[in-house]
Amino acid sequence: MKILIYAEHREGKIRKITYENITLAKQLGQPFEVLVVGSDVDHFADEMAKYGAEKVVFYKNSAFAQYSPDGYAKVIAKAVQDRGADVLLMGATSTGKDLGPRVGAILNAAMATDCTKVELDGDDLKLLRPMYAGKVHASIRLTSPVKIVTVRPNVYSAAEAPASAQTETVDAEAADFKAVVKEIISGAQGKLDVTEADIIVSGGRGMKGPENWHLIEDLAGLLGAATGASRAAVDAGWRPHDEQVGQTGKTVSPSLYIAVGISGAIQHLAGMSSSKYIVAINKDPEAPIFKVADYGIVADLFEVVPRMIEELKSKN
Ligand SMILES: Cc1cc2nc3c(=O)[nH]c(=O)nc-3n(C[C@H](O)[C@H](O)[C@H](O)COP(=O)(O)OP(=O)(O)OC[C@H]3O[C@@H](n4cnc5c(N)ncnc54)[C@H](O)[C@@H]3O)c2cc1C
Repeated sequence: MKILIYAEHREGKIRKITYENITLAKQLGQPFEVLVVGSDVDHFADEMAKYGAEKVVFYKNSAFAQYSPDGYAKVIAKAVQDRGADVLLMGATSTGKDLGPRVGAILNAAMATDCTKVELDGDDLKLLRPMYAGKVHASIRLTSPVKIVTVRPNVYSAAEAPASAQTETVDAEAADFKAVVKEIISGAQGKLDVTEADIIVSGGRGMKGPENWHLIEDLAGLLGAATGASRAAVDAGWRPHDEQVGQTGKTVSPSLYIAVGISGAIQHLAGMSSSKYIVAINKDPEAPIFKVADYGIVADLFEVVPRMIEELKSKN
């Protein structure tokens, strides 16, 4: 089984999920190559070699300096065919969600999205993915000749395993693009992306209003965490949508998720229940969040969170 890993990069940086997928491919013990689509991308080879990539293939064209959903999908599909790959491994990220189905449509390939476990079963892959907002986990097998698998970020930890990477460059064709991304307007500069963060402090309606969010931000700052929010907080206009965790927001799998004043509705759990450790702070002992929490604090958040902040400050 030959695996092709699509290397996701943004603003000149490889995204963590690429390293996680390299680690996963190494664990599977199958031959794999890493595919980089772009313009000025050669420098990525050394970074990927740090995680054990032995072969990095560049599909380059100056037109790929700008992301194009249909243009990238075509070149990825071409690369899958050129390299004779059986499996295309991508991240279950916004980019993976955008590109995976397009590549699947071109190659008539079956796709399993947002997998939380990828195992070898004979000559095949056995995949586990949450369904129905995380209520059930389906164990599935794809039967098409080419298979597309997207893996949930942070489920597999990227492990450094220095290798020396062989590289190959293909001058790729850039067909007529139907759409090109001209500009990306990012949110707050330097803000940690909630999907890549190892620790997340999330607030919900229990925070009462945006004027209290300094508690979430201070706690997150002291822990080196990203800030998240429930949909109730986002819908109320207290927080930007890019912080929303859940079924209609982001799916996260940090090592530690601290839910502050969040009830734990199924749609919220869908986005965070695969976190390694969950801490819930809620004054209602019956709140459903406690069913998934590893540690629960039944208390008024306006008493507990300032104490946590003081405690952490005294230790720093
Ligand atoms: C199709 C669909 C998609 C959805 N997608 C999402 C999604 O992506 N993400 C998401 O989050 N939701 C989503 N929702 C909404 C979801 O159903 C809930 O309405 C939402 O998650 C509730 O947010 P919350 O927990 O902040 O608010 P609430 O449910 O109102 O909970 C607030 C909690 O704060 C606690 N609290 C109040 N005051 C204090 C205090 N002083 N100290 C401690 N605790 C306190 C309360 O006990 C309560 O448990 C979706 C709903 C639908 C129908």
